[in-house]
Amino acid sequence: MKRKLYFETFGCQMNVLDSELVLSQLRAQGFEEVEDRTAADVVIFNTCSVREHAEQKVWSRLGELRETKATRPDLVIGVIGCMAEREGESIFKRFPHIDILCGPGELDKLPAMVRNACVTAPPLPGTPGEGRGEGSVSDFGFRISDFGSKEESNPQFAIDNPQFMTPNPPPAYREREKRQVALMGAAVRRSSTYETAKEDNLELLDLARSVSPGDNVRQAYVRITRGCNKFCTYCVVPFTRGPEVHRPPGNIVDEVKMLVDAGAVEVTLLGQTINHYTFDHGDGRKTTFADLLYRLHESVPHLPRLRFVTSFPRDFTDLALQAMRDCARICRYLHVPAQSGSDRILKAMNRGYTVQQYIDFIDRARAYMPDISLASDFIVGFPTETDEDFAKTVTLVKYGRFKNSFIFKYSPRPGTAAIDRFVDDVPDAVKRARNNQLLAVQGEACIENNRQMVGKTLDVMVEGESKLVSKRAAYPASKVTLGWERRRDAIIEPLQPNTQLIGRTRGDQVVCFDGDLAMKGRILDVQIIDAKNLTLFGKRV
Ligand code: SF4
Repeated sequence: MKRKLYFETFGCQMNVLDSELVLSQLRAQGFEEVEDRTAADVVIFNTCSVREHAEQKVWSRLGELRETKATRPDLVIGVIGCMAEREGESIFKRFPHIDILCGPGELDKLPAMVRNACVTAPPLPGTPGEGRGEGSVSDFGFRISDFGSKEESNPQFAIDNPQFMTPNPPPAYREREKRQVALMGAAVRRSSTYETAKEDNLELLDLARSVSPGDNVRQAYVRITRGCNKFCTYCVVPFTRGPEVHRPPGNIVDEVKMLVDAGAVEVTLLGQTINHYTFDHGDGRKTTFADLLYRLHESVPHLPRLRFVTSFPRDFTDLALQAMRDCARICRYLHVPAQSGSDRILKAMNRGYTVQQYIDFIDRARAYMPDISLASDFIVGFPTETDEDFAKTVTLVKYGRFKNSFIFKYSPRPGTAAIDRFVDDVPDAVKRARNNQLLAVQGEACIENNRQMVGKTLDVMVEGESKLVSKRAAYPASKVTLGWERRRDAIIEPLQPNTQLIGRTRGDQVVCFDGDLAMKGRILDVQIIDAKNLTLFGKRV
């Protein structure tokens, strides 16, 4: 019988991709995903440390599972991702019922850890526990002793943790030495040269990606760089995901080809600072980000759309901009977080550029591609931010004419440099007021940009049914069937409009229009007839 797996992902696109890669391995091991946590044999949370809200959700889910675990000791609970790496084994003090802890830099070990946790799970109370325990043969056909992890135990933790100070810890909780823990800690994994990449098991996780008939891969993520070297003071990523590691270009091209053969229409390349991509082949040759863009564009001619996120404002070369300009199927969209319009605050954030350098970059991008669509991120209320600093941010938002900006109120995050270095001295009411003011300024740019689109015909990649207007009730369920098909072989059938669809342009503008849900995953010509702040409205032509 297949084991049931509940898997929940929080956070960024990188986490979404990590989950996809890990899930494909777990499915291959015989796990079946379920939507109901209470029906699962294994529950895994892939966590994010960037926003407090996402963390609170995970804490609350773990709290809820405490009772479940008390009655079902065989339930396996895993916490993976940035929270796991940041919290480390101290997480067991609050949540001793967790069985698996795995950082984002160690995910290649997760499938074995899950298997091991399943076979070493304590038996249900009152059962003989057959098939469980040291030396027994697991449901997966290997012996528990294959995966001993006693050397990972931490004596200090045992002393600190009241659960393990008692002679008889609750049976629901896994013995400490049988917990599965894989954290990067201070270890550094680098595979930016060919020789080391061959040895990197984390690379193997990406390489092992497989697509099954029925998987929806029309919009797919492909990682090109892991980690970050920037150490912005408000960010935990360099500590949880480690230093920049660049994947071999041949592996990236092969993965994109595989996805396109499986039906991908849009591939988004992922990296925390994606324009820093450089791969050293170890023989004097280097592949830069611009080289990679050209190579992908040429090697995968059947891919209609290639995107990438997130760009860092510094070190974005003219060659990379030229590649975007020259390659018709690379989307004219750049997400380049500015974070502040004040040099003083940028310095406190350790961003490594000035406002003028940021402006020079967006000017350069627009000189190469006048139709480029730019998006940014801003943090308001960073420690010591004055009204004057904030006014400079407002000026930058006005100058930037961004398609949209993701605007956040600063909150101190555990594990970051800023939490130790600065007092969170901007009152919440001020943060809120600045947040609202900046949203209003950005809103004016949004509506102005969007109005310029009215009357134009744009190609729109259909993502699904719009949440704004749903005509689901009138929609026969039997039609919501998406077959797995090769894009090149796709047969375009006449379709009847019966719902409101949502899609994106090459410039990442959101477009709503009437259509048939079976259009999902297709790129269609849509004439823009109306514009609101965040959404364009159109009709098929
Ligand atoms: S560039 Fe800065 S904000 Fe972005 S991931 Fe790296 S440290 Fe975090």
